[in-house]
Amino acid sequence: MVDQEKIKAAVKLLLEGIGEDINREGLRETPDRIARMYEEICGGMDEDAQEHLSKVFTVEKNELVLEKDIVFYSLCEHHMMPFYGKAHVAYIPDGKVVGLSKLARTVEVYAKRLQIQEQMTGQIADAIMRYLAPQGVMVLVEAEHMCMTMRGVKKPGSKTVSIAARGVFQDNQLLQNQVFQMIRS
Ligand code: ZN
Repeated sequence: MVDQEKIKAAVKLLLEGIGEDINREGLRETPDRIARMYEEICGGMDEDAQEHLSKVFTVEKNELVLEKDIVFYSLCEHHMMPFYGKAHVAYIPDGKVVGLSKLARTVEVYAKRLQIQEQMTGQIADAIMRYLAPQGVMVLVEAEHMCMTMRGVKKPGSKTVSIAARGVFQDNQLLQNQVFQMIRS
């Protein structure tokens, strides 16, 4: 759980630090608003992917499943600025599947916290391997980082792509290419 009082105190200091008048009308509610906002955008820290991935259905045929274009918003832990984009999750079941919304939920668990994109990609893949135990999983994340586009090198529109492949996807270029094609189609 986030400590709202600490966030409020920190935001006041931050505002003073950048030379603002914390008592002017537009800013009076800002520390409070930001404290409530962090409760939401870091809400993944209080969640467990196991919860979402344990509701399974049995299947007879283990055919590839791809849930693509899962929109997510996260915060880079180096600048605490947003990075956001799409996650694509593919897996080959081993007798059981989860509801499609649960894959999106799993992405949210790891997106809603301070993150590094590469680490988030791996955490999503590892959670699916651990709790759903498929034959393999592949996660591809493409995101725009505000710390890249709004400041620093200022490259608007540039995207960072990260991939994590586990199980049967790990060294199978053919399978990986199949997923790439399905994402692009
Ligand atoms: Zn950053």
